[in-house]
Amino acid sequence: MPLKKEIKLYKRYILTVCLTVTLALSSTFLGINIRTRQLIQDENFIQARALLNSVVVAFKWNASYDGVYVKKTAGVHSNKFLKNPDITDTEGNVYTIRNPDIMTQEISVLAEKDGLFRFHITSLKPLNPVNTPDAFEREALKLFEQGTREFAITDVIRGRRFFRFIAPLFVEKSCLGCHKQQGYRLGEVRGGISVSFDVENTSERLTQNLIMIVIFGMLATLSLVGLIYYFTKRFVNKIVLARQEIEHLATIDGLTGLYNRRYGTGRFEEEVIRTLRVGRPLSCLMVDIDHFKLVNDRFGHPVGDEVLKTAAACITEVLRQYDILYRYGGEEFMLVLPETELSNAEKIAERIRLMIKERTATGIPITVSVGITTVKDGDADPNDIINRVDEALYHAKNAGRDRTAVR
Ligand code: GH3
Ligand code: MG
Ligand code: MG
Repeated sequence: MPLKKEIKLYKRYILTVCLTVTLALSSTFLGINIRTRQLIQDENFIQARALLNSVVVAFKWNASYDGVYVKKTAGVHSNKFLKNPDITDTEGNVYTIRNPDIMTQEISVLAEKDGLFRFHITSLKPLNPVNTPDAFEREALKLFEQGTREFAITDVIRGRRFFRFIAPLFVEKSCLGCHKQQGYRLGEVRGGISVSFDVENTSERLTQNLIMIVIFGMLATLSLVGLIYYFTKRFVNKIVLARQEIEHLATIDGLTGLYNRRYGTGRFEEEVIRTLRVGRPLSCLMVDIDHFKLVNDRFGHPVGDEVLKTAAACITEVLRQYDILYRYGGEEFMLVLPETELSNAEKIAERIRLMIKERTATGIPITVSVGITTVKDGDADPNDIINRVDEALYHAKNAGRDRTAVR
């Protein structure tokens, strides 16, 4: 895989990991926030039901006595919706009746004054206009007639958030005393009791909580993504370097620094196939050191190695941008010359021969023989060229070495 493509792949990998982490952390923090809101809403319901139950108990207690009498002192008014609401005792004290509705209203006023909560008895057919439902209560009362058993909203009243909860009131025996004339029947919904309490502070705390979650979430995500990015990048850089190293080892000959035979042959074949397709010239030189075995035998392998390096360096000097040079065998080098006619190839071969002869690395006279060939009509594949250049080299050797031969 080309390096650019590989780096693109790693970048995409890092991006995917970072995105996945960001998504995972964001959904975790979002989940925590949603769950917190749910828990607080559940708490609101629990509190509302508890408050309502206590009022319903007081309501029922009052209804069980068909109302209770309270002393009519200053500021205590009679219920104008009832017939004969007042009674006088033998000592002349006046008492006025407090039915469940009025009693609940008065408890509500008291609670609201203390800043606690507010109750409201309400009905779609109120006797007392004070019990007329507001929009929220009206909607709930209609739902109760269809079977709903409780209803709640969070409403903004005078700029503050209130939790509003309402549950139905069913007609019981004790209610019929006053409400029979409205046509109510036992067991049906005759209205509801709503309770509202201030949740502004909780709401504010929730908002603060959300801000904290967002800040911590972002910080956590950023640091985690940063760490992942840093370590993955380091890791990827190491992989890229290791890969480059492996590629180098797989393509380069360790001794001469030229392409090795496997890689060079691949490049040579590609080039020949391209040349045959487009019908352009291409020439090849096979350079072989003469009597190299003797060099090794006389001076030792390390000296032989130096000679090989010098020969490789000489051939590299004549190399042009598109030429391909590789170590074909032990002391054989293949030079592929695209876009080169035979006459030019011969000149290059001669230059190489003379240059190597001049530069004797260790003072040992070294000569080379060079086989030369070029692409000809009828060549079908790279083997045709290899066979011919080999043949040319054989002829150079047979003709006495230290020369070039063309086939
Ligand atoms: P000719 O003129 O016919 O080419 O004779 P030659 O001795 O050069 O050819 P031959 O094929 O008989 O010997 C090649 C020698 O090259 C044999 C081998 O030990 C040596 N050789 C191959 N690779 C290396 C190498 O990497 N280092 C050294 N020092 N010697 C090598
Ligand atoms: Mg040889
Ligand atoms: Mg040789």
